[in-house]
Amino acid sequence: MQLHPVSLECRHISLSYGNNEVLRDVNLKIEPGEFFALLGPSGSGKSTLLRLIAGFNRHQRGELLVGGSDITNVPPHARNIGMVFQNYALWPHMTVFDNVAFGLVERRETRDAIRRKVGEVLELVGLSQFAERRPGQLSGGQQQRVALARTVVIEPKLLLLDEPLSNLDKNLRVQMREELKNLQHKLGLTTVFVTHDQEEAMTTADRMAVLDKGVLQQVGSAAGLYDYPVNRFVAGFVGTAN
Ligand code: ADP
Ligand code: MG
Repeated sequence: MQLHPVSLECRHISLSYGNNEVLRDVNLKIEPGEFFALLGPSGSGKSTLLRLIAGFNRHQRGELLVGGSDITNVPPHARNIGMVFQNYALWPHMTVFDNVAFGLVERRETRDAIRRKVGEVLELVGLSQFAERRPGQLSGGQQQRVALARTVVIEPKLLLLDEPLSNLDKNLRVQMREELKNLQHKLGLTTVFVTHDQEEAMTTADRMAVLDKGVLQQVGSAAGLYDYPVNRFVAGFVGTAN
């Protein structure tokens, strides 16, 4: 696989649904290869921002730059951005191999290339021996790994994760956090990880942004936000008050 870490920049991004201003003047620069968490309570606009980066939401104002190129008007299918959702919706009737291969088949890659890439990515997520199983025969954590494999196999420019662990039980969530972090380090893929769980963000991300009511409150490292919150909201959300 050929993964080239690129930067992601949001410049003055605003989006409203009718009178509801969901994102207000969001400015953000994520470095190539960074594991970046977008943290905020439910309804703060996290998913909206992520979908906007993927190209599924049209925003009214601002620019989006990937690797320095303006992609604001590039349609979603041409952006080559990988996204993993909370409900990872694998095809139940297809094997793990076929689920992961799906995007490559759609791109009409050769059978050899597909076999090689799927093999490589299944190895990476530790599922080589499960290639012929169906999703229903896997645990929740394994299904989540299939969803990740399916997304990274297309060699995306960015990896976007929308609360990918929130359907798992607590113990598994903690374990998957570690796996996610290791996988991201191995791939070196610029990653935006959306979560409402401050502990999840603090234990995985290089840096994070805290979002409240569509406004970015603070951007920094876990220690930076914890020790020097800029306002009460960040202190409460990131700190021990939570
Ligand atoms: P989060 O992911 O942080 O929980 P969302 O981005 O899903 O927040 O939602 C932010 C706000 O935008 C909420 O008030 C939500 O009701 C509103 N919203 C999200 N999607 C739509 C939509 N398609 N149409 C209208 N309002 C929406
Ligand atoms: Mg959401």
